[in-house]
Amino acid sequence: EKIFSGFSKTRNNLAVIDELLLYWNLADTDRVLDELEEALLVSDFGPKITINIVESLREDILSGKLKSGNEIKDALKKSVLDLLTKKGSKTDLQLGFRKPAVIMIVGVNGGGKTTSLGKLAYRLKNEGAKILMAAGDTFRAAASDQLEIWAERTGCEIVVAEGEKAKASSVLLKAVKKGKEENFDVVLCDTSGRLHTNYSLMEELISCKKTVGKVLRGAPNEILLVLDGTTGLNMLPQAREFNEVVGVTGFILTKLDGSARGGCVVSVVDELGIPVKFVGVGEGVEDLQPFDAEAFVNAIFT
Ligand code: GDP
Repeated sequence: EKIFSGFSKTRNNLAVIDELLLYWNLADTDRVLDELEEALLVSDFGPKITINIVESLREDILSGKLKSGNEIKDALKKSVLDLLTKKGSKTDLQLGFRKPAVIMIVGVNGGGKTTSLGKLAYRLKNEGAKILMAAGDTFRAAASDQLEIWAERTGCEIVVAEGEKAKASSVLLKAVKKGKEENFDVVLCDTSGRLHTNYSLMEELISCKKTVGKVLRGAPNEILLVLDGTTGLNMLPQAREFNEVVGVTGFILTKLDGSARGGCVVSVVDELGIPVKFVGVGEGVEDLQPFDAEAFVNAIFT
């Protein structure tokens, strides 16, 4: 329900498609597809996906495969669903057998990293896992306090920086060592935000990943990039950059309860081939849900 109401703006933009298709006839195809293209662009699908979708519909209409407005609408929905699910990528968390599993949460400031980490801790704890949090956002002064509140709220232990100048990587190092020694199931690592174009942030992330990797003797199980669902196509360069630098394994799409912008989700997943694993639909402990591509498609198309 929250996702459905969050995508009301995208749904309104796309509602025009229903009207168009209601009165569609073969002779009208070019005009209808032009308007459909416009509606997809306005809804942040981006030019590449929009053109692919429209041209594939055109082909199927002209070849007689799609014969009615309803069939065209179903084909449109299916092509979006296929884009979101096609690469066989795993949308559930891959925690493996090694203990502890380590999940790094990365992303720009204000996107919802710390909040998502708290919600994820709640979720995993409810599934019976022993969770340790690592307050690796040593750049933003309040982040550690904020995470401590989440630790208390969810009943999880937390490792915080000692001293003002402590490095993020040393907080993560300490946490992963503690996780190993004290048999934690999952260590959830917060990291610093700033802007994705900030060179030193990216250096710091690389160093965090290396440090964790050394203790684990392998890569972190998941590196989840938090993307603010209200930012539209701006999330695409962010996702590219973070992926190039640290290798993202999944997305957490936040603020889908607000005025989320739908089409760009499809663009990001399609271009990078990385799945959305969770969506944030509010600020409460229970407001993180596994991503359901079908529910998403049904929320953006009426
Ligand atoms: P960070 O800087 O990336 O760690 O971002 P925060 O976790 O501090 O979140 C920034 C703001 O977004 C806070 O006010 C959060 O409560 C809010 N927020 C995070 N996720 C969601 C969400 O899914 N829905 C809504 N409505 N707000 C969110």
